[in-house]
Amino acid sequence: MTETRSYWVLGGDARSRELAHLLAEDGYLVRTYCLGDLSEDLVGLDQAGCVVFPMPVSTKDGLLFAPLCEGEAALASILDRISPHSFLCGGRVTEAVEALFRARQLRLHDYLRREELAIANAVPTAEGALQLAMEQLPITIQDARVLVLGFGRVGMATALRFAALGAKVTVAARRCETLALAQSMGLRGLPLEELWMLPVFDVVLNTIPAPVLGPVELGKLGPDCLLLDLASAPGGVDWAAARRLGLNARSAPGLPGKVAPRTAAAAIRDTIYHMLSESEREVPIGN
Ligand code: NAP
Repeated sequence: MTETRSYWVLGGDARSRELAHLLAEDGYLVRTYCLGDLSEDLVGLDQAGCVVFPMPVSTKDGLLFAPLCEGEAALASILDRISPHSFLCGGRVTEAVEALFRARQLRLHDYLRREELAIANAVPTAEGALQLAMEQLPITIQDARVLVLGFGRVGMATALRFAALGAKVTVAARRCETLALAQSMGLRGLPLEELWMLPVFDVVLNTIPAPVLGPVELGKLGPDCLLLDLASAPGGVDWAAARRLGLNARSAPGLPGKVAPRTAAAAIRDTIYHMLSESEREVPIGN
């Protein structure tokens, strides 16, 4: 029998720690493992109503991702102690991790694949980009000429926040309807295929998860331009070319967890609640 109102939070970074606090504040029984306290153990894990794995679930060596813990734990040995009746979720689930779960008849749900979480995460990501730009630019955002590549969840949230502070924001995108949408919001539009004739910008923010900034485009950026790649690895920047050109460029991964771990954790908590209530509504095939 699993305890329907009990959560286990296994491993993870500051977000997982915040998540454990938030779940406890909501009145749930919460146990943690590999979140810093070495005295934690896995006794009772097989009774868990919901087990929350971190993002990513595991390291390349098959260990539970647990940067806050001095010890280490093999993911496989944890899975051997889990009941198939528990609801299991984790973030950025790879095929290898999925296979480990499948081999034990366990089903892992990926909260990072959920649209509501991606939308919620765009907010701290955009604020983090703004924070980095403020820290690194010698000018105000109001005076900045900003190029945002891509106009999806992160691109839109980022472009609108820079624009709200008075920056002159241009959005580069591949589809004309995307450019029209950006223009309808008071932003300038630049077709992606015209990137090679890039005008001068103080900040370039890439959100496109594809190689869009190669040697030609990077060669158009001035030495004072700040380039931030927000897209997940491998991102959109030719880093060898950026280094060769001596650009002020860096990738900025994992911003939600870095700049707003509590907000990021609250978004994960809400997403898990949605997934749980959907799974409770699932009717088994044949019924
Ligand atoms: P999204 O909503 O899917 O938006 C992606 C944008 O990139 C869209 O405008 C899309 O255009 C464009 N795009 C995708 N592939 C393209 C290609 N091959 N050529 C040209 N344009 C292309 O994604 P998102 O949620 O904004 O996330 C964007 C990236 O940021 C992802 O890599 C995500 O993992 C990452 N991310 C990073 C952080 C961080 O902390 N740095 C936080 C959250 C997310 P179309 O609409 O035409 O497809």
